[in-house]
Amino acid sequence: MFEEYEDYFGYMPEADAIIEEAKKKLYDLLSEEVKQNIDRVIAESKRYDELRNKCRSEEARLARIENNILEAEKRFEQSELYDMPNKYAKRFVKNAIGDFTIGDEVYTFGFERKEELCPMCKGNGTVEVICGEEKSEIKCPNCDNRKRITIDRRIIKKAKVSDVYLMLCFHKDRTSYWNTDNIYLDNNNFSTNIEYIFATYEEAEKALKGE
Ligand SMILES: [Zn+2]
Repeated sequence: MFEEYEDYFGYMPEADAIIEEAKKKLYDLLSEEVKQNIDRVIAESKRYDELRNKCRSEEARLARIENNILEAEKRFEQSELYDMPNKYAKRFVKNAIGDFTIGDEVYTFGFERKEELCPMCKGNGTVEVICGEEKSEIKCPNCDNRKRITIDRRIIKKAKVSDVYLMLCFHKDRTSYWNTDNIYLDNNNFSTNIEYIFATYEEAEKALKGE
């Protein structure tokens, strides 16, 4: 009711005090019943605010739960599609290639081409032949007069398991896999037989000597 005079008052703390006092006096004039009604409305309004806040926080909680459910569903789908089959595939792989896993450093056989003196002509390029009593020199049949020959020597070399290919075979009553030619080393485009893959140099050496 004093709004229209506000411009004239400016800021006056005394005015606030006068208004507060007037309010108190007016309140005292009200009948008990009206006072009770006002108190009830104030209390109800407070309760309404409380309930509305509670409702809002419950809504937020529900939204979080719904979000969590969605996330869980996504994770489950992901797990069902990839993690679980991966687990079984890993068991197949383990069964098929033993203790080797992709990325493992292993030892295998390779070839080293070496040139050396022809052992038949000992580097002469010719050999002596005796026919009856006649001796003659002929072109060495081993090196064809080249005096040197090239030989491929088996060596042990370090390699890395780069890929494992497994062909799964689903039969009517069982599942199996094609278990040969499935390990690839050093990204080669040919596979290496598991018999020629060793975990240590010593094992490879033993196998090389045993051949
Ligand atoms: Zn020769």
